[in-house]
Amino acid sequence: MRYSTFGQTGFKVSALGFGAMNLPGVPLEQARETLNYALDHGINYIDTAAGYRNSEEIIGESISHRRDEYFLATKTNKRSYAEAKEEIERSLVRLKTDVIDLLQIHYVNYVSEYKAAMQNEGAYEAALEMQAKGKVRHIGITGHRPELLAKWISKGQFAQVLFHLNLAQPFSLDELIPMATKMGMGKVAMKPLSGGFIQPVEKALRYPYSQNVDVIISGMISVDEVKQNLAAFELEVGDAERVELENLATELGSHNCRRCNYCSCPIGVTIPDIMISSQIRNTFGLLPKGDGFYERQKGNIMSCADYEPCKERPLCEEKCPYHLPMRKVVMESASYFGA
Ligand code: SF4
Ligand code: SF4
Repeated sequence: MRYSTFGQTGFKVSALGFGAMNLPGVPLEQARETLNYALDHGINYIDTAAGYRNSEEIIGESISHRRDEYFLATKTNKRSYAEAKEEIERSLVRLKTDVIDLLQIHYVNYVSEYKAAMQNEGAYEAALEMQAKGKVRHIGITGHRPELLAKWISKGQFAQVLFHLNLAQPFSLDELIPMATKMGMGKVAMKPLSGGFIQPVEKALRYPYSQNVDVIISGMISVDEVKQNLAAFELEVGDAERVELENLATELGSHNCRRCNYCSCPIGVTIPDIMISSQIRNTFGLLPKGDGFYERQKGNIMSCADYEPCKERPLCEEKCPYHLPMRKVVMESASYFGA
């Protein structure tokens, strides 16, 4: 597995990072075994967030006795100074650590949120204060609007940026990764399987590995999953394989959805998941998780075509900053059920 110097932090991080978001869903013993197995086998970047239920506590319980063996990244989705400060202090306690290596301002998708976090008495000020006190080493930012992130990081206030990069969402390659590289920042890609939709799994894991990023966060909940992920990261990606993966990403990413979640549907259609999985579903079929998703969404998907208020002007499409044809894609996906 590749290890690289993480931006200007001086840390050498493993290309495969441990995403701890789903650990709250498994028994504590299993989480403990999985995290320790990952550390034992060379993964040294642990990613969590204050907002991931009790994920921080599980990490604190399971591996805080090995604190010098991993780079610890967490996040706050608060925007005000007071709330962010309180949350960072709580993260330190829950993670059972004296210092967080990377504190990210989490899920910044709107200009208004960015402004709120960066203004006087915003979350960024709390992060800076905790950094001055030695409680936070570096400050990063995460979001789902790559072109906005590219603009925001160009101001030089962040050491790291976290973004989507997977076979169905190659969009960060356009402006964001080049800008982060120019700024000498740590680059972290997330969701290689986009929450369980993208297959073939090995290609899905190797695609972001083929690109100019330091860490790829993959959500893992069992030793078997850690083994599967590690196997995909064992060998570097050669030129021919990179071109093949890039061509596949061009095809699977043609839906153009960034998962910014600006859209919403009054009858509960989960539009981004449908947009992102549409090409994969047509090309490769679905993984069991994707199948389960479509089964749960069936009623909503089938109702879209008949939903009166959207017949003239789809309510969701008005909100999409990329002007995507969501109604058409949702209606097409009804054919998955033989409609
Ligand atoms: S067009 Fe369909 S998916 Fe979009 S808001 Fe209306 S019902 Fe929901
Ligand atoms: S369909 Fe448009 S608004 Fe909805 S998540 Fe995707 S890019 Fe964002």
